Amino acid sequence: MANYKCMFFNIKLAERKSCYCAFCKVQRKVHSSKNLTLLSVVGLLGLSLLVTYIIWQTLDPRGLFILGLFLFVGEIFHQLRWRQSMICSNCGFDPVLYLKDPEKAGLKIKEFLEYRSERPEYLLKPPVQLPVRKVAAKGHNISLRG
Ligand SMILES: [Zn+2]
Repeated sequence: MANYKCMFFNIKLAERKSCYCAFCKVQRKVHSSKNLTLLSVVGLLGLSLLVTYIIWQTLDPRGLFILGLFLFVGEIFHQLRWRQSMICSNCGFDPVLYLKDPEKAGLKIKEFLEYRSERPEYLLKPPVQLPVRKVAAKGHNISLRG
């Protein structure tokens, strides 16, 4: 787990956690928070106060509109960053899409692997080890009930 902490305070600036891809089993890092953190909200509040002071030279109630706009845009970028970090850069597996539509997730992986085979920057990355599907051999009853 990699946490980037502020030097003077015990505040987590950006939390990324290490995990393994469910498809290719390569270790990667994903953003753990889907929504804005408290530190982000405080930062956007300070930025909106600064912008409000620069525009009107005093604290103005119209600054609340700027705060709302910053929070809205910040939340969108935060969720886009989280969503992008969910997709494996090695094989293109998207666990969020897999939960919604496994067929579409499989097509995305196939499309990514074709794209990857044509690009030279993927030559030094670890090879994708496709999962092996275990199928019971014919004639063998694997049921525990007999
Ligand atoms: Zn992967």
